[in-house]
Formats: sequence, C-alpha cells, structure tokens
Amino acid sequence: MVADLHLHTFFSDGTYSPEELAGHGHRIGLSALALTDHDTVDGCSRAEAACRALGIEFIPGTELTAEHRNREVHVLGYWLDPESPALLSRLAGFQAVRENRIRDMVHRLNERGIALKADDVFRIANCKSPGRPHVARALVEGGFCSDYDKAFERFLKKGRPGWVPKARMDIPTTVGLIHAAGGVAVLAHPGLYHDDTLIPEIAEAGLDGLECWHSRHHGTEPVHYERLAAELGLVATGGSDCHGMSKGEPLIGRIQLPYAQVEALKARRPAGRSASAS
Ligand code: AMP
Ligand code: FE
Ligand code: FE
Ligand code: ZN
Repeated sequence: MVADLHLHTFFSDGTYSPEELAGHGHRIGLSALALTDHDTVDGCSRAEAACRALGIEFIPGTELTAEHRNREVHVLGYWLDPESPALLSRLAGFQAVRENRIRDMVHRLNERGIALKADDVFRIANCKSPGRPHVARALVEGGFCSDYDKAFERFLKKGRPGWVPKARMDIPTTVGLIHAAGGVAVLAHPGLYHDDTLIPEIAEAGLDGLECWHSRHHGTEPVHYERLAAELGLVATGGSDCHGMSKGEPLIGRIQLPYAQVEALKARRPAGRSASAS
C-alpha cells in the first residue's frame, strides 16, 4: 500500500481537476492521496468525493508559505478541518495578498514593456489562489515567452523583473494555525532550501513531519532526510508535488510513500479533535 501526499489541482496552480487527480491516483494504484493546494482547501470536498468513489483514502491538506531566517519555506498541513472558520479566514487573507501580488507583478512587467494584462492572468488562473505559474502561462499564451520554464527564468524567479515576494508567516504561527485546525504540520521539500541548519530550528515549533521523498530530492537526499527526521522525532513523509501537466509530464505516483508513514503521521493528529475529515 502506497500514498502520495503532495498534489495540486486547478484550485491552485495545478492543471488537473480533483476528479482527474483521483483518477490518476486510482490508475497508479495509490491507497491514499493528499490534496495540498497552495493557500486553499477549496478542492478538498470534490477530491474527497472522487476518491471515495474509487476506494482511495483522501487526506485534506494545504501548502502554506512561511519564512524562517528570511528564507521562504513551505509547510504542508494535513487533516485540517476544511470548514474551520479560523483557517478559512486566514486562507482568505493569503488569497487576497496573492491577488494584489499578481497586479504588482503585472505592473512591474508592464514597466519593462511587457504588455501583459492582470485580467488575462486571472482568467487563466480561474481560482482563488493565483500564483506565478499562472503568470507564466499568461506570458506564454500572450507570446511574450516561448515556454513556461523560460517565463520563470527570465521574469518570475526571485530577483527577476516580475518577481514580487509573497506574504509569509513565521513558523510558529504557521504550525499553530495548522494544529488549531486539527491538522499535522510537515516541512515540505527540505532539499530545496539548501540549508539543513534551518530544519532543527523549524522542528522546534512543534513540526510533526519532514517531506523526505519529493520529486526534486535526488541521490542520497531522501535517505539523508529520513535520518534527520528520525533524529528530530519527525515522521518521514513524501509526495510527488504533481502540478498536473503544467510541467510537461505528470509527477503523480513518482513518489510511492509506504502506507505505514501515513499511519505514523495520522498518530500525530492533535488529540480531542473529531476524526470527521479522515
Ligand atoms: P508562487 O506561490 O506564486 O510563488 O509560485 C510558486 C510555484 O511556482 C511553485 O509551487 C511551483 O509550482 C512554481 N515554480 C516555482 N519556481 C519555479 C521554476 N523555477 N520553474 C517552474 N515553476 C516554478
Ligand atoms: Fe505550486
Ligand atoms: Fe512547495
Ligand atoms: Zn507543492
């Protein structure tokens, strides 16, 4: 039995519908999957229904943007209550910031002579969590760039003309928000931060798990992070970070997390919460 605990749909910057995602999970033979769209849980009810129909265990989740020592890090929350008013109001705040950020990015690009329109980005995004991938797609569609990766390389990466930082919570606030909504908190893709000294510091805020297996962890990285997770008392988790077809090929199932890790993570759920979302 295997799981994939890091997946996106078109409710944020993925391309699949929740139903398509569940269908791919079924085809690959996943026993469980988690939806972790950026700053939203809106896709969870559809994904839950689609997974239930296919006999897949569904784990509601989200991927939040946090910062530690001025570095952007991503924190995954699992089994949060998708109807928690406190969670939903925080997410609405992040979504508003994302919308303003798109306008800022477009403005900056306009100043560089790129005649992109914010409305074109919002039309392509068609969701409450617009982000750089949608700007990249709009740049390609508008003929300003030949492909998606070049759009990031030329315009959207940190330090490039269209780059605008995102709102970032500190780690204790992020982990606290996830726990208060009944969830468990996992540090996403630690290999992408290129500084392992961040990890024990972040773990101190009450982190539950570390995403050891990820599509962009290579060579000895998974084993290295598995060891670090054990040292820090964190559950070793994993997920593909599939964004659908937005990056050429679907990554779903590339990471096949043993189901025992899902159970270990489940055991970290805050006590006294109802198990309604499980
Ligand atoms: P945002 O949340 O708006 O800052 O966008 C971050 C998302 O952009 C990530 O979740 C990835 O899906 C995508 N992304 C970030 N960096 C790159 C890159 N260099 N090339 C392609 N996609 C990227
Ligand atoms: Fe993304
Ligand atoms: Fe991420
Ligand atoms: Zn992700």
